[in-house]
Amino acid sequence: MYNKYIMQDKFDVAIIGSGPAGFSAAIYAARAGLKTAIFTGPVTGGLLTTTWTIENYPGFIEQSAQKLIDNMLLQCKELEITMLNLFVTKVQQEGTEFMLHMQDQSQYKVKAIVIATGARPKHLYVPGESEYMNKGISTCATCDGFFFKNKNVAVIGGGNTAVEDVLYLSNIAKTVHLIHRRDTLRAEQILQKQLHALPNIQFHWNSQVQEFYGDQDNLLGAKIINNQQVLNDLKIDGAFVAIGHQPNTSWCKDLVKTDEAGYIVNYPATEIPGIFVAGDVADQIYRQAITAAGYGAMAGIEASKYINLSR
Ligand code: NDP
Repeated sequence: MYNKYIMQDKFDVAIIGSGPAGFSAAIYAARAGLKTAIFTGPVTGGLLTTTWTIENYPGFIEQSAQKLIDNMLLQCKELEITMLNLFVTKVQQEGTEFMLHMQDQSQYKVKAIVIATGARPKHLYVPGESEYMNKGISTCATCDGFFFKNKNVAVIGGGNTAVEDVLYLSNIAKTVHLIHRRDTLRAEQILQKQLHALPNIQFHWNSQVQEFYGDQDNLLGAKIINNQQVLNDLKIDGAFVAIGHQPNTSWCKDLVKTDEAGYIVNYPATEIPGIFVAGDVADQIYRQAITAAGYGAMAGIEASKYINLSR
C-alpha cells in the first residue's frame, strides 16, 4: 500500500477539525510560535457552512457564515498555518509524540494534537428535510431563530434542546408548535414548567413529521401524523429539528475518554499529555460558534504551554 510518510513536514501541533474551535486553536498555537497544521476533515468550516448569517458573534453585526470562514482561513494563511484537506482516521501514541493516520494512507508525526471535530445534528430523514435545510429548516434556534420574527415555527423533539429552543423562539415567533413523538417530554422539569406558562405554544403530542413542503425557495409547511393516524397540515415558515447531536468521535473513542453519548469528557486538556480538545466535540449544551472559538483559544493556549514546557 502507498504510504506517504512525511517526516520533513513534522508539525508541533495538529489541529483536527476546521470549525471555529479548530481555527481558533490554530491561531493561538501559531501565534505562540508553534508549527501548526489544520487537518480540515471533509468540510472546511464545519457546521458554520450549514448556516446563513452570523449575528451573535461579538464584533460582527451581520456576517455571512461563509465570510466568517473565509476570514478565518485568511488569518490562518497570514500566520503560515498549513491547511491540509485530509481526514484523520486514527491517532497512535508513539512515546511522547503522536502518529496521525489519514484516510488516504498518509501519516504525519506531531508533538501535540487538538481534537476539534465537532458534533453533527441528527436528522429526521423525512421527505423535504434536506431540500428545505437552510430554506426554513434549521438545527440551531439560537443561530437562526431571529429570522422568524412574528412568524409561525415548529420545533421537533422533546429533550432539553427542543424545550430550550421553544422557550427561546417563543420570544421571537408568533406561534411555536412543539412536535414530539411521545406524550411526555424528556426535558428537565424546570424547563417544562416554563414551557407550560407560555401563551404562544401549541403542543402536538404523539406526533411525527411525515414530510416538509414548500415552494422553490422557502419552507411552507409540514405534514404531521399522530399515533391515531390523524394527519395535520401545519403552515409554518420555519422548523427547528432538535432531536439530538452526534459527536464526531468514532475515530478517537479508543484514544480519549468519552461519555456514553460519545462526547469527550476532559477538556481543554485530556487525560493524555499532549492531547487537547475544543468545541462541540466536548460540549452538548452551548454549541455556538463563539463558545467553540472560546474553547479553541483555551486548547491552543494549553497546547503551546505543553510544547514550550517539553522543549
Ligand atoms: P436528547 O437526546 O436529550 O433528546 C432528543 C429528543 O428528540 C428526545 O425527546 C427524542 O424523543 C427526540 N427524538 C430523537 N430521535 C427522534 C426522531 N427520529 N424523530 C422524532 N423525535 C426524535 O437530545 P438534546 O439535544 O435535547 O440533549 C442532549 C443532551 O444535552 C441531554 O443530556 C441534555 O440534557 C443536554 N442538554 C442540556 C441543556 C442544559 O442543561 N441547559 C441544554 C441542551 C441539552 P424521545 O424522548 O421519545 O426519545
